[in-house]
Amino acid sequence: MSISPGLYLHVPFCSAICPYCDFAVTTGGEKRRERFTRSLIREIARDHGPWKAFDTVYLGGGTPSGLGDERLGRILEAVREALTIGDGATSAVVSIEANPEDVTEASARVWSRLGIDRLSLGVQSFDAAELKFLGRRHDPVEARRAVEIGLGAGFVVSMDLIYGLPHQSPESWQSNLEIAVDLEPHHVSCYQLTVERGTPFAKQSRQGDWAEPDDDSLAEFLYLTHEFLGAAGYPAYEVSNFARAPETQCAHNRKYWEGASYLGLGPSAHSFDGRSRWWNQRSEAVWQLKVEAGRSPEAGRERLSDRELALERLMLGLRTPTGVDLGALGLDPSDLLAANRELFERFTRENLLRIDGDRLIPSLDGMARADALARSIEF
Ligand code: SF4
Repeated sequence: MSISPGLYLHVPFCSAICPYCDFAVTTGGEKRRERFTRSLIREIARDHGPWKAFDTVYLGGGTPSGLGDERLGRILEAVREALTIGDGATSAVVSIEANPEDVTEASARVWSRLGIDRLSLGVQSFDAAELKFLGRRHDPVEARRAVEIGLGAGFVVSMDLIYGLPHQSPESWQSNLEIAVDLEPHHVSCYQLTVERGTPFAKQSRQGDWAEPDDDSLAEFLYLTHEFLGAAGYPAYEVSNFARAPETQCAHNRKYWEGASYLGLGPSAHSFDGRSRWWNQRSEAVWQLKVEAGRSPEAGRERLSDRELALERLMLGLRTPTGVDLGALGLDPSDLLAANRELFERFTRENLLRIDGDRLIPSLDGMARADALARSIEF
């Protein structure tokens, strides 16, 4: 059964840029946000070719919650007019990424009226010093309040948390997790802080202002996260993602891990149709000029070979506890198992994965090293 495609809309604005962020983001006043909104609506209305009904719509960024409720309403209206959203029998799940400082009783009411179902909150930490280090604009009280408002308004609420901060102890990370589960969100995502090139954090780390945790400490954080959240009723369904129930997993992000197709609109957004991938101009200004001139804002495109597709499915599938069905890679599972017999025996001995019929099932260590495992498999 083919999975329905997802629609991603990239809103590049943030009120300030966090020192660890390397996404395509920018600050920008009302005028720029309005011009962006008009351009995005123009891009939505372009001919995107034959796409089946989208069953997820994901407003990401950036900080879409800071765009303004009226503009969000116009964008979602344009989406529903131009594209097929939901298949008639079931409606699509509409998600928005929101920063805690943007979540108020009033905004929650409006988002609900706009048909938004799911809030993905950029909480990152419940510790004031950690939030300050991360350059976030909210405090722990606002973070808790945003979760409570979201739950009270009936949204499926997810929160993002970051671990592996310099000087963060396992105890301090655990106390973040304790506060998170006490609030009873439906979903938690826990990401390791990565220092990306070209960010202020990269400069600070290079200058020796602080040191990144070593691999052993990061492994300890990862184990703690999975043990704690699993015991609290949030089993992992991907190495960084935990949900209280299957129906509160993020259906949109699952599409990326399961090789489903998706259409991405807005600057830097990527699309995939099951065989080819293409991406928009990263610069908001260049993307905008192209859209306003009635031209495609596509910046590049690649057609994946059978091997590249299989490798990608392996890398993404091995990030999930259900692993990868070798039969779904477009290759003969018995050939693959025979060609990699010794490698798989070693992986099994080292408790990185196990083989169950035609399926490779990774352990937590295996999930954490999914890319390296996938790249060492011969096919
Ligand atoms: S709020 Fe998110 S997208 Fe915006 S700058 Fe910070 S990390 Fe980047």
